[in-house]
Amino acid sequence: MSILNNWLVKPHQTETKFLEWGQEYPHLVELDSICQYVGLNAYSITLTDKSISLDQKEKLIFAVPHAHEPAGTAACMNYINQILTGKHLDQTESEIYNREEILQKCVLTFLSDPNPDGRSRSPVDYWDGTKYTNEEFWTFMRGRDPETKKMWKRMDRWSIQNENPETIGIVYEQVSSHEYVEPNRDFGSAYFRLIKRAGEKYGYGRWLDLHQTEFEKSKYNAMIILPIIQNELPEHIKQANVEWADAIVDSWKKCGAQPMPESKPLGYTGQQAEYFKRTWREFMPIIPKITTEIQNNNLRTPPEMQEKLEEEAIKVSVDLLIRSKA
Ligand SMILES: [Zn+2]
Repeated sequence: MSILNNWLVKPHQTETKFLEWGQEYPHLVELDSICQYVGLNAYSITLTDKSISLDQKEKLIFAVPHAHEPAGTAACMNYINQILTGKHLDQTESEIYNREEILQKCVLTFLSDPNPDGRSRSPVDYWDGTKYTNEEFWTFMRGRDPETKKMWKRMDRWSIQNENPETIGIVYEQVSSHEYVEPNRDFGSAYFRLIKRAGEKYGYGRWLDLHQTEFEKSKYNAMIILPIIQNELPEHIKQANVEWADAIVDSWKKCGAQPMPESKPLGYTGQQAEYFKRTWREFMPIIPKITTEIQNNNLRTPPEMQEKLEEEAIKVSVDLLIRSKA
């Protein structure tokens, strides 16, 4: 069986599914979309039993900010399919036995690929470490520097009027005739705009961002990152973040991964830290919010495993809240 049966990550694949789900399950599915500058639609999809009032429901949002990290997208798509149909995308039976309960008690919103502009420019559907070295991978991610031929710069918002990378990295989203942004670093991105809209409509209680990174020279291949302002957060939120992180790390161990045992706050310093702290204070609701990082582009963590671990993080997040309500 090809991995591609279970791996929907390109805009034409995800959009087709969203529209299909919206049509087949109108009582369970709400779609929202923003047309990016390049003309591709970025979607959010919300699952809940609409016959039951939103008031008492647990509200979670799951988002995949980076186009070069497709396993989170694949995981969202497979999880949504299981909740709606009882089956994985490859048509095998799902192990999730309490779908009705989840839909009755929760509002689950997914931004499985809020930058289809970037994703559509990705040369591969998954990064498995067989085709490109990490150095090559990074030149796809951020673009290629015309002089060094290595990875270009990390930029929040930049313009081709002032900058001339040899290629434009897939992490970036074009937002005007000449400007580009990294989605989770600029409020003009489809990612932030969709989250803001969903947030105003549903008011989330928890937020999980699904990321991937290379884990070069690390003995680990998965980790949870706590908020950069973890230590400034109210005690009950700090504690919720740690308990949530520990639950995911535990389940990853059972899947055979090598997760970092103790989750830590985002370790940026200097300008990067200031940027993230500012963003947090301006935009992030004060709710439990954590981030997954699953190994990308390495033989040690094949795409099936990447997807499984991201999906596990989604499952554990939902289970925790269902159990707390029981
Ligand atoms: Zn990322």
